[in-house]
Amino acid sequence: MQHPVDLHSHTRCSDGILSPADLVAKAAADGVTVLAVTDHDTLVGIPEARAAAARHGVRLVPGVELSVTHAGHDFHVLGLIVDPDHAELARLLESRRDDRVSRVREILGKLRRQGIDIPFEAVEGESVDEGVLGRPHVARALMAAGHASSIDDAFARYLGSKAAAYVPYPRLNSADGIAAIHAAGGVASLAHPGIDDGDAVLESFVEAGLDSVEAYHPAHSAVEQGHFAGRARRLGLLVSGGSDFHGPGASEGHALVLGRPGCPPDDFAALEAKAATYR
Ligand code: AMP
Ligand code: FE
Ligand code: FE
Ligand code: ZN
Repeated sequence: MQHPVDLHSHTRCSDGILSPADLVAKAAADGVTVLAVTDHDTLVGIPEARAAAARHGVRLVPGVELSVTHAGHDFHVLGLIVDPDHAELARLLESRRDDRVSRVREILGKLRRQGIDIPFEAVEGESVDEGVLGRPHVARALMAAGHASSIDDAFARYLGSKAAAYVPYPRLNSADGIAAIHAAGGVASLAHPGIDDGDAVLESFVEAGLDSVEAYHPAHSAVEQGHFAGRARRLGLLVSGGSDFHGPGASEGHALVLGRPGCPPDDFAALEAKAATYR
């Protein structure tokens, strides 16, 4: 079922395909009335998304999907309803942008030692100037150079966590990332726990300050959605939901439809009330 509230989406400012304005226009056309733009480790798309949202009668929820380390593993934490102009969060994201550049250079070094020479500029060419770099841009450059048949193939052979050129994120402690989200007046929701084995770490994430769990995500089965919503409630956490839309045709294992799944309006209202306590 499609939903008018979608709290997880990406633009070309990180690894999505559409511009922020085009993403918002598509959301409006698809019947989404509340949209959180949550690019990986950056807020640069928010002003353009906000202007487009005003034109289309969509409510824009400023957001960011932070890559964090928790209990030795990589997780994604959504910062929702954040103040996009908050200085502390902006500083953190600036340093993460530099970390992402170093990480891409390290990945390219590993590939070179395996006989695959991809220049940094080729990866940069797959992104936009003001955006941040990630493994999907390396994947696109690998495809363009004929070293992978698809994005999934590039992840399976080179970029995934068990593949030959994998480089983990430079460390950002989950508690530090969550504190920056709170400082900016937002709530922190653990993204797609069904993909990242969030089950095992939910309790310790609560100690790190977590507010919510993204129970509703396209990679979760109906059973998993119910499971994570139940665990969240038992732990005193709220629930969020969104499509994790990266663009038309960009599957990455995710749905291709904005608002599917989405966030029940009551759960969104609870997230807003919680965010108000951080102001
Ligand atoms: P990064 O933030 O640079 O580590 O890149 C992570 C992003 O890559 C995720 O948010 C997805 O958009 C994408 N991704 C992760 N795993 C895969 C995969 N197996 N196939 C395709 N895309 C993936
Ligand atoms: Fe992504
Ligand atoms: Fe994610
Ligand atoms: Zn995402």
